[in-house]
Amino acid sequence: MAASVFMQEITWPDFQARVAAGAPVFLPLGATEQHGPHLPLGVDVFLPSAVAAAVAREVGGLVAPTIPYGYKSQPRSGGGQAFPGTTSLSAQTLSLVIKDVVHDLGLHGVRRFVILNGHFENAWPAVEGLDLGLRELRRDGIADVTALRLEYWDFVKRETLDRLFPEGFPGTDLEHASLLETSLMLAIRPDLVDMGKIPNDGPAKFPTYDRTPVWTDKVPASGVLARAQGSTAEKGQWLLDDHVPLIAAAVREEFGL
Ligand code: ZN
Ligand code: MN
Repeated sequence: MAASVFMQEITWPDFQARVAAGAPVFLPLGATEQHGPHLPLGVDVFLPSAVAAAVAREVGGLVAPTIPYGYKSQPRSGGGQAFPGTTSLSAQTLSLVIKDVVHDLGLHGVRRFVILNGHFENAWPAVEGLDLGLRELRRDGIADVTALRLEYWDFVKRETLDRLFPEGFPGTDLEHASLLETSLMLAIRPDLVDMGKIPNDGPAKFPTYDRTPVWTDKVPASGVLARAQGSTAEKGQWLLDDHVPLIAAAVREEFGL
């Protein structure tokens, strides 16, 4: 049996031994959120989980179970909470879940963390949860933890974005359920993508502010914020060929691996 990178697939003595040997532990953060009519609700779970597993294989790391719910979907980055199936946590709940996981892993010897985010809105609750978890560990006398926190989509070369968007990159927030996520899903879970259902009602045109009550006319009815046309598994692979080695390089650099 090949050694799995997934914590859920190994025994506790294996976990203990690999952590004692300095394995960095990846904690992917996901969401259960609409991703248009052509992608499943779990995109933000599948993508960071796959990236974390690939990086963990390169650096000798382990992947903790992905947190399957995220902070509330925002209209300008995820379409908002109104879409059926979008099921979210409050910021405080999400932070406390991350805090508890970091704390327990730390008590069990983990000293190198990589919080790998796959859902735009999770960013600040993740900062908070990590901060609270590390604070609790310090109170327990564990002060030698190093933790990285990142969004996987930031690890991409300018040339790759230029190749993907010859007419200009719309930005990672508007990319919800669009070319990047659709191409990545075609690369890792093509069985879950229905290319025949890609909609034509985007791209969204948002002002540079939020509004409550949320506009009824600015979020495309499909939930796709930019454009998914032209997505291919090959483009998804271009992205993975940036994400995985660039994150692995950062992890090696920071942990001296
Ligand atoms: Zn997403
Ligand atoms: Mn999302």
